[in-house]
Amino acid sequence: MSVRVGQGIDIHRFSEDPHRPLVLGGVTIEGARGLAGHSDADAVCHALADAILGAVGLGDLGRHFPDTDPKWEGANSVALLTEVVRLAAAQRFACVNADCTIIADTPRLAPHTDAMVEHLARVVGAPVSVKATRAE
Ligand code: MG
Repeated sequence: MSVRVGQGIDIHRFSEDPHRPLVLGGVTIEGARGLAGHSDADAVCHALADAILGAVGLGDLGRHFPDTDPKWEGANSVALLTEVVRLAAAQRFACVNADCTIIADTPRLAPHTDAMVEHLARVVGAPVSVKATRAE
């Protein structure tokens, strides 16, 4: 059995669009300012997908879902992560666990991390941890 470790990092600024929802870890957080991005800007899904792609040696998210392609505009990042898990499975790799840390000064994310864990664990098929912290 071969075990590999991947690392993914993603950073998004807040959107200027007051109607754009904030989606993190597949969870829509009501009443919060959304993030700017070509897809739904779910930075947690993006970082996790990048970690899986890196571990498997399949490049990065931008290679598979370029933000220059209108096809991915507004894309649901859970669907992108699902596709990445499928690509890894095609290489005979499966995720055994994932540990995610979100750094955000606002909004307060602790009340939402359990929902993210549940959502992401279902998508990657392995235990997931989601921690939230502030930059302070
Ligand atoms: Mg991103």
